[in-house]
Amino acid sequence: MRAVPKRFGFDLDNTLIDYSVAVQKYCLNEGLHECKTLDSLRSLLRRSDTTGRLWQLAQGWLYTDGLSYARSGHGAVELCEFLRNSNFELMIVSHKTTHTPDFCGQKPLREIATKWINNSDLADYFLGNEQIYYEATRALKVERIQKLKFNYFVDDLVEVFQEPGFPQDVSSFLLSGTGSELTWVQGVPSLNAIKGLIENEE
Ligand SMILES: [Mg+2]
Repeated sequence: MRAVPKRFGFDLDNTLIDYSVAVQKYCLNEGLHECKTLDSLRSLLRRSDTTGRLWQLAQGWLYTDGLSYARSGHGAVELCEFLRNSNFELMIVSHKTTHTPDFCGQKPLREIATKWINNSDLADYFLGNEQIYYEATRALKVERIQKLKFNYFVDDLVEVFQEPGFPQDVSSFLLSGTGSELTWVQGVPSLNAIKGLIENEE
C-alpha cells in the first residue's frame, strides 16, 4: 500500500509573499511615514483611521498593482523544495474576497494573486488549481484547513489560529518576530526556521 503523503499548508499574503518593498513604495506614493512591513503599515493606518478604510485602500493596492513589487518570502523556495523532496503535498489556503471593494475599483484579487504565483519562483511548487484555495472569510478559511487535514500549517496572523474550530492537532507555525503566545502554536522568525524543525520531528 502506498503511504498517504503528508500535507503542508501555507497562508499566502505576508507568509509566502513578502510585501516589504511594495509597502515602502506605497508609503512613498501616499506621503506616509515610511513603513518596512505590512504589520507596521496596518498599525499606522488603523491608528489614524479607526473605520479601517485607509487600510482597505492600502490592501486594495498592495494585493493588486503592488504585487509587481512583491517577492517570495525569505526561505519560501528552500522550504518548498525541501517539502517536495520529502514527498509532502503543498497547498495554499488564503483569506481573500473575489474582488476589492467598490471604492478600490473592484479588482479581481484571486485572479491577480494566482497569476503572480504562476509567474514567480514558487510556480513549480503550486502548479495545480487544487493546490490553491481562496476563502472569503477567516471562518471559511479555517473550515478549509480542517477539511484538508494538514500535518502542518503556517500563517502570519495569530487570529487564524485563534478562530474557533481551528484544528489543534495540526502542527502549526506562527510567522512572527515576537514568538507565539499560544502554547500549541510554535513561533518562527522566518520560513527558513521551519525546515529544521520538521527535520527534527520526522
Ligand atoms: Mg497572511
